[in-house]
Amino acid sequence: MSAQELDITATNTIPAAVDAARQLFTSGITKPLDWRLEQLKAMNRMLTEHRDDFTAALAADLGKHPAEAWLTEIGFLTAEIAHTVKHLSTWLAPRKTPVPLALLPAKATTVLEPLGVVLVIAPWNYPIQLLLAPIIGALAAGNTVVAKPSELAPASSAVLARIVPQYLAGAVSIVEGAVPETTTLLAQRFDHIFYTGNGRVGRIVMAAAAKNLTPVTLELGGKSPVYIDDTVDARAAAARIAWGKFMNAGQTCVAPDYVLGTDTALARLADELPGAIRALYGDQPAHSLAYGRMINDGAFSRVAGMLAVDLREDTGSALISGGATDAATRYIEPTVMHVDAESALMQDEIFGPVLPLVTVASAQAAIDFINVRDKPLSLYVFSEDKDVRKAFTEQTSSGALNFGVPVVHLSVPGLPFGGVGESGMGSYHGKHSIDTFSHHKAILEKPLSPDTLSLIYPPFGAITKQI
Ligand code: NAD
Repeated sequence: MSAQELDITATNTIPAAVDAARQLFTSGITKPLDWRLEQLKAMNRMLTEHRDDFTAALAADLGKHPAEAWLTEIGFLTAEIAHTVKHLSTWLAPRKTPVPLALLPAKATTVLEPLGVVLVIAPWNYPIQLLLAPIIGALAAGNTVVAKPSELAPASSAVLARIVPQYLAGAVSIVEGAVPETTTLLAQRFDHIFYTGNGRVGRIVMAAAAKNLTPVTLELGGKSPVYIDDTVDARAAAARIAWGKFMNAGQTCVAPDYVLGTDTALARLADELPGAIRALYGDQPAHSLAYGRMINDGAFSRVAGMLAVDLREDTGSALISGGATDAATRYIEPTVMHVDAESALMQDEIFGPVLPLVTVASAQAAIDFINVRDKPLSLYVFSEDKDVRKAFTEQTSSGALNFGVPVVHLSVPGLPFGGVGESGMGSYHGKHSIDTFSHHKAILEKPLSPDTLSLIYPPFGAITKQI
């Protein structure tokens, strides 16, 4: 289905949708804790009662297995809701802070207040999770929301547009569509814009937000590296790397993009990866229900094209496993290959099921390799060597740094999820979402009497003697 065939929201209705969201916010109804908890519970009911609808949409858009749909989208959201419901009143409690002696008597407090109307723009790769997860935080913080699912996941977009209003009418309005609709949305005034997707559009979003001085969170992507050395069990590491790489056919923002290691470390890993892939998807991944497909023909051609370039004999690349493609079904076999740093696969985020292995001389060389490139969204290190772990912690910068496991940091609600530099700005999940979608208002209360401030008033007689 093309974007044009979507049941898109007419652009001339968008200002009214934003206006309605603003009126609801201005009415004050969203501020009490009870309203916020009600919305979260309604979203939870929606996810439970319509689990099959969401699962079917994810299968239609991405060939996602129902178990993966639960683990990475629907179940992920219900866990985030449960965590937020449990802790929300604590997170929202005013926080006292000490007052310097010279200002006493006085009381200082930080109070979180909702920002107003939040715009959420989501991508297609986890189309349900990445639209609703920021909405959990925005509603919990007492905002109203206008949200736009990705037109590139049309079944998910349609199911969200149909079902969300049944549970969250007023609190969340869904605008379907592509560039024209997003452009119209971005011309409206919001109090926060939360965008997930690529950096090119991230720049468009930030430029539009600047016109109204609207704060933004940009959840972007890029190449997330892996480093592996000889100190780890290569078979166990291969199982984890293959799982993180090939889920959702490699279309995961935090998927391992490529692996760095010495010759010997990569040789050990290369021996284990084909078996790890077989354990996940069998001898013929094309027939495995657990294995996904590229989202559309454009995404298929992009990844298959890079693969074809690097499979040419004159590139010095060497295929380790996989390499088959089928345009008709948008299938790309889980593929592992040795490449050099100049190869096609090493230029941009791959965002597909191809894992290049790149030889470096040492851990320090891997750190240098990473540091001359864009700051990654995630960095994964497989090493038992404490000095190596310390070096990566101290000498690299990335949204997240995981030792021994890719991807799952997303599921630790206490950890902020977000990028740095080209991989984004701002973060969310759990309490970090509440912080993102709230204004942190400073409140200072000081009695008029005694007037201790009189000491610092002009003509400064008393203070001049002391300084
Ligand atoms: P996409 O093409 O679905 O775009 C994201 C959103 O931007 C969509 O809603 C789309 O309609 C809108 N958009 C597209 N062009 C626009 C324009 N010209 N003006 C205004 N809006 C526009 O998704 P994508 O960008 O292909 O997503 C993949 C990228 O997102 C990858 O780089 C991936 O790493 C990144 N990503 C990041 C995260 C994260 O949490 N950090 C999560 C998922 C994906």
